[in-house]
Amino acid sequence: MRIYADNAATTKMTEKAVEAMLPYLTGTFGNPSSLSSEGQRAKEALEDARARIARCIGAAPREIIFTSGGSESDNQAIVSAAENGKRKGKTHIVSDTIEHHAVLHTLKKLEKKGFSVTYLPVHENGIVRTDELEAALRDDTCLVTVMYANNEIGTLQPVRDIGGICRERGIPFHTDAVQAVGHVPVNVIEDNIDMLSASAHKFGGPKGTGFLYVRKGVRVLPFIEGGAQERGLRAGTENVAGIVAAAAALEEAVSDMDEVAGRLTRLRDRIIKGFSMIPHSALNGDPVKRLPSNVSFCFEGIEGESLLLLLDDRGISASSGSACTSGSLDPSHVLLAIGRVHDVAHGSLRITLGRDADEEQADTIIKETAEVVSYLRGFSPVWRDLCSGKTGFIL
Ligand SMILES: *Cc1c(COP(=O)(O)O)cnc(C)c1O
Repeated sequence: MRIYADNAATTKMTEKAVEAMLPYLTGTFGNPSSLSSEGQRAKEALEDARARIARCIGAAPREIIFTSGGSESDNQAIVSAAENGKRKGKTHIVSDTIEHHAVLHTLKKLEKKGFSVTYLPVHENGIVRTDELEAALRDDTCLVTVMYANNEIGTLQPVRDIGGICRERGIPFHTDAVQAVGHVPVNVIEDNIDMLSASAHKFGGPKGTGFLYVRKGVRVLPFIEGGAQERGLRAGTENVAGIVAAAAALEEAVSDMDEVAGRLTRLRDRIIKGFSMIPHSALNGDPVKRLPSNVSFCFEGIEGESLLLLLDDRGISASSGSACTSGSLDPSHVLLAIGRVHDVAHGSLRITLGRDADEEQADTIIKETAEVVSYLRGFSPVWRDLCSGKTGFIL
């Protein structure tokens, strides 16, 4: 049996989510915008799913806009806030250095259009400091966007405090909560969130379906033009089957969150302890303020890609830094942001446990990783130089 430990990249759909989806692919296949009875039944399912998803995060149904996923939600939220701000002469945005590329690349695009962005540092533990955030705010700040949980190192940001600060100053606050929703308790009211991005395939739902929460009174602009779906804020025939499945997956994730998070936290800490026994290794990110499923480590003297391939051969699917797109040689921006030097950042491994993970899987991951790291170091020239004292160990 293979061990899939790459759940931050995507999750397997839950059985309940698949089951919930099927009737909407064939039987109730109507277009929710059409007046036929097929259409009206699809519309009912869509609105029912909207209400259920809203309830899971403490929102009202009208505050949920269905999108194609996390990337689209991030783009729409950020561009909307920027355009709204610009109209009032506000062109400053506050974010941080470890955001997902859906956020970072959108901000880069806005910088080219004349916006200025303050990227807060995250320090060694991978967490933004609220005093630094407060100091970065300006009279012309039109948006603060800080992720809820990081996809590479799993760190949880002080979202509630950040939201509180923004609310006090009247600055819209967006959070990319793609890694958090369905995994840790998220409540848009208690967390002072104005806009939140989520994606179904990260919590047991299908790919290509997500949503943007927009608090009542906050204005977003349509990102996709066309029909009047989603109250004119997101054109395109809704992915009814995907949305219904997303609702089923999220309800399931929320209902057994305590059990799953408790079990995964114990397994996570077991793996962290096991990996710590490997010489010259280090945990990335905060040991406590992190997602229950996330173990991110750096092993000195090896290449993360080789480690991944050998683990894959041994039946373990993991990841190195971010889903290293097209084998780019640049180390992860997240690992560099927490102060890992290039060589160390290259030897990274990300284990993200699934909701069904157990102790046996955790122990296999520890054992196989320790063996592969030691094997790779056996013929690594970098490791030889480290051991001979030619270059100094960092970890
Ligand atoms: C996966 C992910 C995204 C992108 O979501 P998609 O639905 O794949 O577009 C955005 N942000 C974070 C933090 C993610 O983990």
